[in-house]
Amino acid sequence: MLTTNEPVPDDMSLCCSTYDVAVVGGGIVGLASARELILRHPTLSFILLEKEKDLAVHQSGHNSGVIHSGIYYTPGSLKARLCGKGTTMAYEYLDKKGLPYKRCGKLIVAVEREEIPRLKALYERGQKNNVRDLTMIDAKGIREREPYCRGLMALDSPYTGIVDWRLVSLAYAKDFQEAGGTVVTEYEASDMAMVKESPAGNTDGIKYPIVIRDSKGKEVRCRYVLTCGGLYSDRLSQISGCSPDPRIVPFRGDYLVLKPEKHYLVRGNIYPVPDPKFPFLGVHFTPRMDGSVWLGPNAVLAFKREGYKLYDFDARDFVDALSFRGLQKLVMNNLVYGVGEMYRGVFIGAQVNILKKFIPELSLNDVLRGPAGVRAQALDRDGNLVDDFVFDVGVGDVGSRVLHVRNAPSPAATSSLAIAEMVADEVERRFSL
Ligand SMILES: Cc1cc2nc3c(=O)[nH]c(=O)nc-3n(C[C@H](O)[C@H](O)[C@H](O)COP(=O)(O)OP(=O)(O)OC[C@H]3O[C@@H](n4cnc5c(N)ncnc54)[C@H](O)[C@@H]3O)c2cc1C
Repeated sequence: MLTTNEPVPDDMSLCCSTYDVAVVGGGIVGLASARELILRHPTLSFILLEKEKDLAVHQSGHNSGVIHSGIYYTPGSLKARLCGKGTTMAYEYLDKKGLPYKRCGKLIVAVEREEIPRLKALYERGQKNNVRDLTMIDAKGIREREPYCRGLMALDSPYTGIVDWRLVSLAYAKDFQEAGGTVVTEYEASDMAMVKESPAGNTDGIKYPIVIRDSKGKEVRCRYVLTCGGLYSDRLSQISGCSPDPRIVPFRGDYLVLKPEKHYLVRGNIYPVPDPKFPFLGVHFTPRMDGSVWLGPNAVLAFKREGYKLYDFDARDFVDALSFRGLQKLVMNNLVYGVGEMYRGVFIGAQVNILKKFIPELSLNDVLRGPAGVRAQALDRDGNLVDDFVFDVGVGDVGSRVLHVRNAPSPAATSSLAIAEMVADEVERRFSL
């Protein structure tokens, strides 16, 4: 997992243990927010705590790697604004840092007549969202852009790109460290409490009244805490006394990969017209920065929050999910779709049949099983998918000092720099930094 850009985590035993602000969660949202905060407040001390050995190895390191241009979202909504702004900021950041990306574009292709009105509505949305250079193209235009793709009509978004979001996360970490921030990995925050006494040998009184303990008994003291826990955002909230709702329900997305000799079939991103009933964008063809091509992901309920294999299982995650009324309702309302997704996850021929609607030349022999990602889907008790940004503050003594990012809706990687600005504004407002 190590790359040349990998920041070296600070050694906890060499660090001091008191900080103005602790950020828990070293995914792209936590790292971008920590970076933004330290750039705004260079005289304060910051620490970022991550439970894994490496940074950004969950959602931020297991995704499609697309720089979305912001077509899909309700005009004027927070999500639309964050994505629009975030895309521009992402390209500027990548250029400034010299990080590799490709602006290879994207087609959203209608293959059935009944999809055309939805495609046109999407075009209008994209225009209202000020997506750059968006056009509608016909079957001939599709063939010019993607010679092996067939369709009746398509939305052409040349502004869409691809990047390795993990590499971007690591660049944020480097900025944070260079500005004086401390990064500690293998530190799983498992308890948060208000303390009344100073640590031994410390004369700071109760200047740092929050203690964050890890599962091995180590302690970090701080004035304020921000959590950005991704798949564990609900559990991190619970440890500061918050309600577990909205819960996180993990949806695994399995990818197929094209065999190298078939890479010529795909030039840029090829997406279906999304079904408005579901929050996911549908299985797509995605070229990767390393030259490979991924097909997918599907979306199946995962039996383990950070489980990337078909049969990964965790008893607590499983019981938590199945005993949650919201999930029971969601499953009942989407039984047919859910079973179909599971079927296509096991029998990849069924997945290939869907993909063949776009590239008829594709066959089962051209694909292999590939990697997977697990999405943190927030769900309320009535089974509604929470598709908006949710902040929550701790309760009791810690309340005024702990802020949780409960849900950073996809595409949070694309929007990360804009999200970080919003999170930093919120931190400043709540904590009077
Ligand atoms: C299959 C898939 C495809 C996607 N495709 C795209 C795409 O193409 N473009 C795009 O923009 N977005 C995409 N997304 C969405 C994007 O990847 C996520 O929105 C984003 O990575 C979320 O970042 P995060 O920091 O919130 O979560 P994460 O990256 O999951 O980070 C959370 C971190 O918190 C840590 N943590 C949790 N609990 C604790 C604890 N107790 N103590 C310490 N650390 C803790 C975890 O170990 C983890 O590192 C995709 C997501 C998935 C799953």
